[in-house]
Amino acid sequence: MPKAFFIDTTKCTACRGCQVACKEWHNNPATETKQVGTHQNPQDLNYSTYKLVRFSEKEVDNKLHWLFFADQCRHCIVPPCKEVADMDVEGAIIIDEETGCVYYTEKTAELSDPEGPIMACPYNIPRKDPNSNRLAKCDMCLDRVQNGMKPACVQVCPTGTMNFGDYEEMKELAQKRLAEVKKTRPAAVVGDPDYHRCFYLMEYDPGLYYEYAVASADVPGPHDRRSMLANVSRPFKVLFT
Ligand code: SF4
Ligand code: SF4
Ligand code: SF4
Repeated sequence: MPKAFFIDTTKCTACRGCQVACKEWHNNPATETKQVGTHQNPQDLNYSTYKLVRFSEKEVDNKLHWLFFADQCRHCIVPPCKEVADMDVEGAIIIDEETGCVYYTEKTAELSDPEGPIMACPYNIPRKDPNSNRLAKCDMCLDRVQNGMKPACVQVCPTGTMNFGDYEEMKELAQKRLAEVKKTRPAAVVGDPDYHRCFYLMEYDPGLYYEYAVASADVPGPHDRRSMLANVSRPFKVLFT
């Protein structure tokens, strides 16, 4: 049965338990960081940090808000990263039939152009290991899920922000919570829910949380995201409002 995450950012306290649990389960090394005036640590995702709680201070309705966004791969239903990788090395990125997990295999190290899948991602997720050349990102904790357990980040979340289950069940939960939250926060949305398996509920404009909170096609460069998406996928949009 296809799976999905529902991430209710309205409940997140930024404790970062999910971030630590992800590192611990994958035996990923710590990332050296320095204080740059924010509690966000490290500053970005990297090849050994698949989950990052992003912190954003923004003024909304003349009040300062601290917005938290537990960033990770969205496990797209038609993943642009895979469509680009398939043109280079077949089997480098696969989709697990049972869960819908988009899984990066060791063959990603054989990609002649690893920047292709990286730049095709509308959520700015994949990162390259400079030592092995492998691409890395959230693997849905497939080993846990295949053994009847929840992903590590969901298991440890103490607030109910992180939810995981059958796709339809998570979509229903997202719609129900959105209806509740909209009573007091009319601008609330769930980002891009028909295109992936990781639904974020946000009380305010997604752009206030993070520039890639919802799909972006605006990053220029040798592998311009807009042209990639035009070639390999359908346009993304916010559907639950
Ligand atoms: S564990 Fe839950 S509450 Fe803590 S930062 Fe992660 S999503 Fe937020
Ligand atoms: S979010 Fe990015 S890395 Fe994850 S499946 Fe979609 S395109 Fe690939
Ligand atoms: S599902 Fe697993 S790999 Fe993905 S962010 Fe959560 S703990 Fe990390």
